[in-house]
Amino acid sequence: MNQEIDWANLSFGYMPTDYNVRCTYKDGKWGEIEVSQDPYINVHIAATGIHYGQEIFEGLKAFRGKDGKVRIFRLDENAKRLQSSARGIMMEPVPVELFTEMVKKVVKLNERFVPPYGSGASLYIRPVEFGISAQVGVKPAKEYVFIIFVTPVGPYFKTGFNPSNICIMRKYDRVAPQGTGRWKVGGNYAASLEAGEKAHELGYSAVLYLDPKEKKYLDECGPANFFAIKDGKYITPASDSILPSITNKSLQQLARDMGIEVEPRHITVDELADITEAAACGTAAVASPVGEIHDLDTGEKYVISKDGKPGPITTALYNELRAIQNGDVEDKHGWITIVE
Ligand SMILES: *Cc1c(COP(=O)(O)O)cnc(C)c1O
Repeated sequence: MNQEIDWANLSFGYMPTDYNVRCTYKDGKWGEIEVSQDPYINVHIAATGIHYGQEIFEGLKAFRGKDGKVRIFRLDENAKRLQSSARGIMMEPVPVELFTEMVKKVVKLNERFVPPYGSGASLYIRPVEFGISAQVGVKPAKEYVFIIFVTPVGPYFKTGFNPSNICIMRKYDRVAPQGTGRWKVGGNYAASLEAGEKAHELGYSAVLYLDPKEKKYLDECGPANFFAIKDGKYITPASDSILPSITNKSLQQLARDMGIEVEPRHITVDELADITEAAACGTAAVASPVGEIHDLDTGEKYVISKDGKPGPITTALYNELRAIQNGDVEDKHGWITIVE
C-alpha cells in the first residue's frame, strides 16, 4: 500500500500509476495485449481518431472491500456499451472477452493504487479506443488502438452528500436528435464544453439539457443521466440522444427492489414543479442530488430540495449502490467482478 497517498483528498484528476495495457487492431484482427509503463503513445499524424473524431471511451471503477478484495462494478455492461459506441461510429468493436481480460489485468497490475476501504476513494478505469490508420479521406479507419489506464480518484462528495443547483439553457445542445448522444463519443464532450463552462461560471454544477428536437423534454444532465422522484415513482428521461448510464440502470433495479415503480419516459419541463427529489447519476458520483433547477430562459426556479438536503429515496439508492460496490452487502444481481 502507498502510505504517502492522501486517499480522502484525491481529486477527480490524473495521477500516474505503474502500468497501462494496450491492444491494436490491424490486418483484420486484434493483436496481443501489451503491458506498458509509458504514459505516451506514438500515433501517426494522419490518424483518423485525431482528424475525424473516431474516438470512444468508457469509465468504470474498482473498489476495495473490508475483506481487502478488489471489486469491479458491472464490467460486462461497459464492455457491451463500448461495442455499441464502436458500431455507432463505424469502429472495430473490442471483443467482450478482450475488454474483460484487459480490465482485470490493468487493475491487478496497479493493485497498489486501489484506495483502502472506507476512504471513499476508488480506482477509476478509463478504456479508450480510436482510429490510428493514416488516412485523409473521410472513411472509417482500418486500424484501431484500444488502451486502458487507471488512476485513483477521491470521494466525489468531499464535503458530504449535498445537493447542488443545475440550470436549463435552451441555446445549447449537446448532440443532434438522431446523432451520437447514445454513444460514449469524445466529440459529444467537446460539444458540451461551452455550455458546461458557462453553467459553472454562473455557479451551477451542470446543465440540464432539453431534447434537441423539440426542447420540451428533459434529456442529459451534463455528462450524467437525470432521474427524479415524482408521486413516489422513479422517473428518468427516455430519449435517443441520451447515453444509457449503467449507474442509472442499476439505480432503477435497486428502486424496483425497494418496491418503487420505475418509469423511463419523456418528462416535460413543467413536471419539474411536481417532483420531490432529483439527481444526476453516473460512475463519478453515483448520484449527485439536485437542490434547485433554474430555467435561465423563462426565469422559473424549481426548488426540489425544500430543506437543502438530499431526498430520502435518492439517499437510500445512493447508499445501497455504494454498499454493493464496497462489498458491504450481498451482490444479489451479480454486478461485481472480484479481481483475483
Ligand atoms: C458516461 C456517461 C454517463 C454515465 O454513465 P455511467 O455508465 O453511469 O457512468 C451519462 N451521460 C453521459 C453523456 C456519459 O458520457
